[in-house]
Amino acid sequence: MRVSESSAAARSGKARSADAVVPAAASESATAPQAFERPVKANPRRNETRTGLVRRARRMYRDLTVAFPDAHCELDFTTPLELAVATILSAQCTDVRVNMTTPVLFAKYPDARAYAEADRTELEEYIRPTGFYRNKASALIGLGQALMERYDGELPDTLDKLVQLPGIGRKTANVILGNAFDVPGITVDTHFGRLVQRWKWTTEDDPVKIEHAVGALIERKHWTMLSHRVIFHGRRVCHARKPACGACLLAKDCPSYGTGPTDPATAAALVKGPETEHLLELVGL
Ligand code: SF4
Repeated sequence: MRVSESSAAARSGKARSADAVVPAAASESATAPQAFERPVKANPRRNETRTGLVRRARRMYRDLTVAFPDAHCELDFTTPLELAVATILSAQCTDVRVNMTTPVLFAKYPDARAYAEADRTELEEYIRPTGFYRNKASALIGLGQALMERYDGELPDTLDKLVQLPGIGRKTANVILGNAFDVPGITVDTHFGRLVQRWKWTTEDDPVKIEHAVGALIERKHWTMLSHRVIFHGRRVCHARKPACGACLLAKDCPSYGTGPTDPATAAALVKGPETEHLLELVGL
């Protein structure tokens, strides 16, 4: 399921207001930036003011919007419960593998009661390809039982209630809130944490502190799409070991420019994913 910013706004009935941070054109379409400048060297930004940081972070978000206008949750789901189950299964597993596993699983276990009453061995076999299947089966059965006992089988739509459920931590809760309930949420996964530290948006390590620090830089209404776009950038361009700095649209604002190859051709070969042609075009390659 792809949940775009515009569709989320449409479903929630909220009119798009004037947006000083992300102009409507930039937030809705892949409008090319004015002119791409490849930096000569990294700028560590040691003396950056708070206002400078906010402006830079918002400028980088605008560029991410241009780079990934259609970023979305890469897990397939049609209901909040399916998203919760898919997110639990995605721990230590790729979204692609989860998406290969869930169609049969969702058909066999269509609601919370089905998980609550599941035969453990049978459920484990269904989810075995996602790894850590014993722990994950316990979480799914526990989740089903808790939903039946406390919420009539429905998933609640607040952070406080979600994090009380088996198998659902703060990260999973924010994924569910943002993508199934249209409640803005910042998802701090491994990509998000790595990138905002590289960008010096925060020096925090703790995911909750990162969430609060980034939430203070970017307007709340953008939090869900910010999460998707940062994660997309982490998966496609700003890799953990060899980021594609020489082919990165954010280079001019990134204090870690040069962490990976800056030679354009070398960097271009590191860019991955279906948006590669679009991403390279944006940086003149
Ligand atoms: S790829 Fe390089 S320049 Fe781009 S965001 Fe990552 S570290 Fe910064």
